[in-house]
Amino acid sequence: MSGATRRPLVAGNWKMHPADRASAVALAGGVAETVADAELAVTVVVCPPAIWLTDVATAVRGSGVAVGAQTMHEEDTGAFTGEMGAAMVAAVASHVIVGHSERRTYAGETDEAVGRKVASAVRHGLVPIAAIGETATERAAGETERVVDRQLNAAIAGLERIAGDDLVIAYEPVWAIGTGNAASPADAQVVAARIRARLREVAPDGADAVRILYGGSVDDRSAAGFFAQPDVDGALVGGASLDATTFAAIVRAAGQ
Ligand code: PEP
Repeated sequence: MSGATRRPLVAGNWKMHPADRASAVALAGGVAETVADAELAVTVVVCPPAIWLTDVATAVRGSGVAVGAQTMHEEDTGAFTGEMGAAMVAAVASHVIVGHSERRTYAGETDEAVGRKVASAVRHGLVPIAAIGETATERAAGETERVVDRQLNAAIAGLERIAGDDLVIAYEPVWAIGTGNAASPADAQVVAARIRARLREVAPDGADAVRILYGGSVDDRSAAGFFAQPDVDGALVGGASLDATTFAAIVRAAGQ
């Protein structure tokens, strides 16, 4: 990580886990404890299911651990059953994952919607963690760069300015998510560098401060290899974020 100016960020995407409130609070407490002890210069974000956001926010209060939502709606309010707008999320959380591949696949989230969500999040003072990445088929067809460029352009299309701290991009190749088959650190760096180059074109002043994460089967053994890459500033972690000890080891690796 070249990070004189970029503070590493490790976010845990709990997806639809755990099933009960007590377990969510216990996991959040475990993360808060280990992170507070380590006194690391790493931004740590936990992203529980929406139903546990308030409980988790209470559990980590004062620890330095930030809370993020896993998605949000692009509109502020309205007849959108089951959804929540950015102002609602911002009342409880500081971050929000936008455009996760599972949302793109199962909830039909389009590139354009991701762009509107990113813009809405920033307007309401939330830091969007915008996830982009190619599928296995796209990779096999040699389309990784085209897909990542398209998704990145759409994700930032609604932003008036990119100041750095208010935007996080997560490169998450879809084939690596939840498969145990992570990208190589070198491949992650190639794509992260491309993302940074594109950000420099549109925001010469802000691009170097944007955190670019790698996500896709990161665990406590593989994390350091990703964090050693100059354009990889942290990780978006799914499965391995459900164990506080494993997650803490990933956070520690980011702080080294
Ligand atoms: C994710 O859900 O964003 C993710 C990267 O999952 P996993 O770490 O389990 O691959």
